[in-house]
Amino acid sequence: MNLEEKISPVVRNLAPSGIRRFFDLIHSRPDAISLGVGEPDFTTPWHIREACVDALERGLTSYTSNQGMPELLEAISQYLYERFSLSYHAGSEILVTFGASEAIDIALRTLITPGDEVLVPEPCYVSYTSCVQLAGGTPVSIPTYAQHGFKLRAEDLEKAITPRSKVLILCYPNNPTGAVMRKEDWEPIAEIIKKHELLVISDEIYAELTYRGKHFSLASLPEMKNHVILISGFSKAFAMTGWRLGYVAAPPVLLQAMLKIHQYTALCAPITSQIAALEALKNGLPECEAMVSQYDRRRRFVVKAFQEIGLTCHEPQGAFYVFPSIQSLGIDAHTFAEQLIQEEGVAVVPGDVFGPSGVGHIRCSYATSLDRLDEALRRIERFVKRKREQLPL
Ligand code: PMP
Repeated sequence: MNLEEKISPVVRNLAPSGIRRFFDLIHSRPDAISLGVGEPDFTTPWHIREACVDALERGLTSYTSNQGMPELLEAISQYLYERFSLSYHAGSEILVTFGASEAIDIALRTLITPGDEVLVPEPCYVSYTSCVQLAGGTPVSIPTYAQHGFKLRAEDLEKAITPRSKVLILCYPNNPTGAVMRKEDWEPIAEIIKKHELLVISDEIYAELTYRGKHFSLASLPEMKNHVILISGFSKAFAMTGWRLGYVAAPPVLLQAMLKIHQYTALCAPITSQIAALEALKNGLPECEAMVSQYDRRRRFVVKAFQEIGLTCHEPQGAFYVFPSIQSLGIDAHTFAEQLIQEEGVAVVPGDVFGPSGVGHIRCSYATSLDRLDEALRRIERFVKRKREQLPL
């Protein structure tokens, strides 16, 4: 029996994540510094962990309601209102999920019928295209450009729309570019969304990691709430990646549809993580702010360092990534990333892993200590100097 042939063609043809290979390579260098992972270097604040320990001691080990614990749904509703002026009803418009990851998957599966086109501005988070394909949709990429700070522009969106376009996936603050969209950037986009009756999956997992001013949510613009499925989670803001907790907020009809998938495939998110998340929302915002100010210091340090090295690097306004261009070095980003690990023991991710407009760029995460960043940047500087010396005259 050929097991390979038994695998569904959609899964068989799914491309493996382009990031993985660089994680594997890094194990060959014990002194390596990884700027590759998209994960906070902080441990979850103690009082959040303690809430979970306490719950276990009290024997809280059961399922919760499919939708999530009512107190947590209430806390998310209040948080969205207070932080981003978003009005979502706890009982009918919010669902607690296994990380933002589950939320992305069920949102797509809820909306897509085979043949539907899903618009994906890129460079973008690596999961979107594959999740669209798993849901039976056709991903259609919309390029964004370094010279516009990698923001989505109305004209580029309009150009990509066809009669089959149904969903637009957005991620601001953006992984991998750090781009953010302000209210004035959203307004022309909202007009197009209305005109073409698009549905939007808005992944706002980096909302708290916005460095100048506050995050602005597309769903807070007039008439937009009905078009938007908002996704967020606890992984980035509260350094809780391993807890696997996220949520989705959407109009009741869409929420009920997503709940149908969730109740059969996940039942409910883990109770211990839900209790920890409740504590995070109640008392964790000061620590979140403290972590954000550390990311901000690192962000400024890294951007300055890349500029001093002479690589063009637009200033990221959110998330914890920089996306400098290495085009001036005459090598492609894969060669750059591979040689950088082998010669200097620093891991970065080639930009085109996130889509064709990432060509000639590398993604570096600054979710690591300033000391390690300093050392990594010294090594990159040495490496770049050598590559420049090798350039033909
Ligand atoms: N969306 C984006 C843009 C991400 O970068 C990540 C994690 N790297 C996720 C979603 C997944 O988040 P979670 O841990 O909540 O599943």
